[in-house]
Amino acid sequence: CGIVGYAGTRPALGIVLDGLRRLEYRGYDSAGVAVVCEDELLTEKRAGKLANLEKALSERSGPDGLSDGGTASMGIGDGTTGIGHTRWATHGGPTDRNAHPHVARDGRVAVIHNGIIENFAKLRAELEADGVQFTSDTDTECVAHLLSAELTRLRTAGEANGPQLLAAAMRSVCQRLEGAFTLLAVDAALPGVVVGARRNSPLVVGRGVGENYLASDVSAFIEHTREAVELGQDQVVLITGDAIEITDFDGQPATGKDFHIDWDS
Ligand code: GLU
Repeated sequence: CGIVGYAGTRPALGIVLDGLRRLEYRGYDSAGVAVVCEDELLTEKRAGKLANLEKALSERSGPDGLSDGGTASMGIGDGTTGIGHTRWATHGGPTDRNAHPHVARDGRVAVIHNGIIENFAKLRAELEADGVQFTSDTDTECVAHLLSAELTRLRTAGEANGPQLLAAAMRSVCQRLEGAFTLLAVDAALPGVVVGARRNSPLVVGRGVGENYLASDVSAFIEHTREAVELGQDQVVLITGDAIEITDFDGQPATGKDFHIDWDS
């Protein structure tokens, strides 16, 4: 229902949670976040209000816990790349395990999604036939597994490098999806990168200085920047702190619609 992504130099978690709070007016039944911290993927998700997610985050401890201010090991509060989601369930009840993000079985690729993947049953059956075990009842989870498999295929084939890998994998997965989707993904092997895609569902980029945002709605990042880019139909966008790169689903360079947000927040 609500989607936020951040790539930059500041800790992502607080920025993503603030963005989700700004999207709360849309209604939701669950919430979750994924943060890439060094080369690790850290996630937390809960059914219910954002307060439930925040409580779970505050109760984390050990090496994956919230940071103690940078003196000990890094935690989910330290990573500077992150995505967050508020869910309005369409496929699978509003439970912790059905909340987004959905993580591929490698534990390294996380996906959040607004909308409905119409052909998810067929995709799920194919993946299950390949031995993938699903951990949720959502239409979304198949995207995480497809993306992870495509990343492995591209890495093995040496067809793309660095941040471009994630965009290339997202493009080929999108070509297999039917329905309406805004998708964001991160890969622990590619810290600093968030990739988004859209079809029949909104996605906007917020242009910062040394940092960039993705969201389903500009209100998620309006306190940080007023410069935005609205993605066109069937486009993929890759953001890092310094770059915004848009292509169509075939990989051809594309442009979104630049605009300035001039309403009062
Ligand atoms: N269809 C997805 C689900 O049920 C996404 C719902 C949404 O847009 O929040 O998990």
